Amino acid sequence: MTKLSDLGPPITGKRHGGQPPSPRDHFYKCRRCGQLVDRQDLRQVIWHEQPEHEPLEMDA
Ligand SMILES: [Zn+2]
Repeated sequence: MTKLSDLGPPITGKRHGGQPPSPRDHFYKCRRCGQLVDRQDLRQVIWHEQPEHEPLEMDA
């Protein structure tokens, strides 16, 4: 299983239009593997955009 830390240091993205009202809004469920993805960490977003991938091991 690929670890989150294997993808390198955190890449934090800024949300357009300011911060969302709830921290829960930072997360969405991946359509392919079903894992919750943190939108604020572009490593996770990019990983889950791949056509073929498995859930990340969240070690970071
Ligand atoms: Zn996924």
